[in-house]
Amino acid sequence: MTTNSKGFATRAIHHAYSPADNEGALTPPLHLTSTFSFETAEAGGEMFSGEAPGHFYSRISNPTLDILEKRIATLEGAEAGLALASGMGAISATLWTLLAPGDELIVDKTLYGCTFSFMRHGLAKFGITVSHVDMTDPANLRTAISARTKVVYFETPANPNMRLVDIAAVSEIAHAAGATVVVDNTYATPYLTRPIELGADIVVHSATKYLGGHGDVVAGLLVGTYEQVSAIRLYGMKDMTGAVMAPFNAMLVMRGLKTLALRMERHCASAREVALMLEAHPAVKSVAWPGLESFAQHGLAQKQMPAFGAMIAFELEGGFDAGRAMMNRLEMIQRAVSLGDAESLIQHPASMTHSTYSQQERAEHGISEGLVRLSVGLEDAADILADLAQALPEMAAARAA
Ligand SMILES: *Cc1c(COP(=O)(O)O)cnc(C)c1O
Repeated sequence: MTTNSKGFATRAIHHAYSPADNEGALTPPLHLTSTFSFETAEAGGEMFSGEAPGHFYSRISNPTLDILEKRIATLEGAEAGLALASGMGAISATLWTLLAPGDELIVDKTLYGCTFSFMRHGLAKFGITVSHVDMTDPANLRTAISARTKVVYFETPANPNMRLVDIAAVSEIAHAAGATVVVDNTYATPYLTRPIELGADIVVHSATKYLGGHGDVVAGLLVGTYEQVSAIRLYGMKDMTGAVMAPFNAMLVMRGLKTLALRMERHCASAREVALMLEAHPAVKSVAWPGLESFAQHGLAQKQMPAFGAMIAFELEGGFDAGRAMMNRLEMIQRAVSLGDAESLIQHPASMTHSTYSQQERAEHGISEGLVRLSVGLEDAADILADLAQALPEMAAARAA
């Protein structure tokens, strides 16, 4: 079914699939096949040369993945999509395709830990210059960018400290210099931010997080123009990384997408309550959630996001020791990395997701040692609030009373 004129939730449920073409099956069939047979040798040759469309090997394309790829493309407002084995598969396949030795990659100061490691310790080994620029002020990019800059890459909100980047302003500067803009939209999801509509070129996702939404699959997605996606499919995915998604995982991500709009509404509403509660608590030194008026980039958040997501970064008065003790007192909220699941999850970036940075690198990149990262889940908000309240330091709670 072509649903491009329909609303977000409708497209997330129906786009690019018709039961009538599939024996009436409501749910898309799983094409559990590695290879596809050709009617004739000539027909196979035409597919390989790109003259005729069709599937020939599942490291390149598969009909089940095809539906998911079209769905993420419509949700992000892009021409084409690609499904990969993981978020890191999507990020690495994209950058292996776009960059060559001698090129410069400009990235924001704050990145997910494995992305940082891939760039700083991986790409840099192969003659690519990786420059870290604080893009919270687009003027810094204007100063740093040059004709050597091939790609500008950032997350917004950034994992883990919630810094935002003005997608439209940064894209304009990057394009004036001839660079391609790649945005990791994992935190916001297309429900809250569509970077392509704001001028970005390629959007990458860890679909392991909100898009899958149920903590049962590791998956990656990306979108861009037909030409860009085809290049990443045939080079970055097929030859450089082999980071292909399995059909069963595509089914799990499609099931997640069907409830993305509903889940994001609830995630955002509960996160607001949690952020306000934390901000008012005397044991809490600082809270970063884009919806708070005290958030340094609240104005940009209002411009770029209709609601503010469910990731919260906060720090206790007692620093990391107090944060760790609080995490250990939690009873319902789970101590786990990952995010965007039905379960509320809490973790400590400096010793967990961002331990790929050295302590000095974390200091340089604005990732504080005491920061705690909370992914507000889909439980009753009252239960999330109660668990946090009983776990926050007692001394401070007594002071508050
Ligand atoms: C988790 C995450 C990734 C990596 O995704 P995987 O699916 O774990 O490979 C990339 N970017 C961000 C912002 C993430 O949170």
